[in-house]
Amino acid sequence: MTDCHFCKMVSGEIATDVLYQDEQIFAFRDINPQAPLHALIIPKRHISTLNDVPQEQAPLLGQMMHTAIRLAAQEGYDERGYRCVINCNREAGQSVFHIHLHLLAGRAMQWPPG
Ligand code: 5GP
Ligand code: ZN
Repeated sequence: MTDCHFCKMVSGEIATDVLYQDEQIFAFRDINPQAPLHALIIPKRHISTLNDVPQEQAPLLGQMMHTAIRLAAQEGYDERGYRCVINCNREAGQSVFHIHLHLLAGRAMQWPPG
């Protein structure tokens, strides 16, 4: 999608701190980190919200989650712990409408989230 901020990162039009990419997945550091490790893991193809993922594309969500698992281990947080979050639509706090999995680690976290 041409006017999507995250699609522009995937295409390289906007520079970012890339942590990992393959054919389907792109992962980069959040510009406004909420923890010592705060990565965003996105599908390269544009999908606006979780509501727009049909069941046949569910494996893509698994790829995103497994990328988070590997990045958490790579950054040394697999034993300490980490949190994976996807915000869907405004009331949950979604501000960029290209789905993204937040990977947060490196500090003690509260529950429930605010
Ligand atoms: P949301 O609020 O939609 O769940 O999360 C959007 C996230 O994208 C926020 O944590 C925000 O800091 C991050 N973000 C927004 N614009 C940029 C950007 O230009 N570069 C990077 N690296 N992160 C961004
Ligand atoms: Zn997009």
